[in-house]
Amino acid sequence: MISDTLQDAINEQINKELYSAYVYLAMAAYFEDESLSGFASWMYHQSREEVAHAMKLFDFVNERGGRVILDAIDRPEADFESPLAVMKESLEHEKRVTKMIHDLYELSVDEGDYPAQVLLHWFIDEQVEEEDSIGEIVDRMERAGEGGAALLMIDHELGERDTAEHEH
Ligand code: MG
Repeated sequence: MISDTLQDAINEQINKELYSAYVYLAMAAYFEDESLSGFASWMYHQSREEVAHAMKLFDFVNERGGRVILDAIDRPEADFESPLAVMKESLEHEKRVTKMIHDLYELSVDEGDYPAQVLLHWFIDEQVEEEDSIGEIVDRMERAGEGGAALLMIDHELGERDTAEHEH
């Protein structure tokens, strides 16, 4: 059975993952408004992944005899300076999430909860991937500059993410 301390911390993380889904959905809305449908579809995909992260934690709490308590989700930022600013903010966001996951892992060690540590290994790996893939997009945007043609090319590539991932 999961300890109350760890249960409460995981409940908080469920909220942060759902907040992440909201953050990416707000970013998708920005890109829709800018008519950058590839970036928007990348953000929808990202948002769905965050809901899946929340559900992974949700299921874990239930499986371990804990109780999931949902809290209100904070309002995400809606206004952005540029497409590059959005991607930079999403990278900063993921770095903050990584820190939360690491703190949660430390707590699971302190609580001597081995199943939670196994689950959190998955999240630790996932954060490495998130930071890497978003960092790569930021790098490429910075290198290409924010000119229309370069931006449209990256937009086209990001729009193919869903197709490419379904092939795996
Ligand atoms: Mg996440």
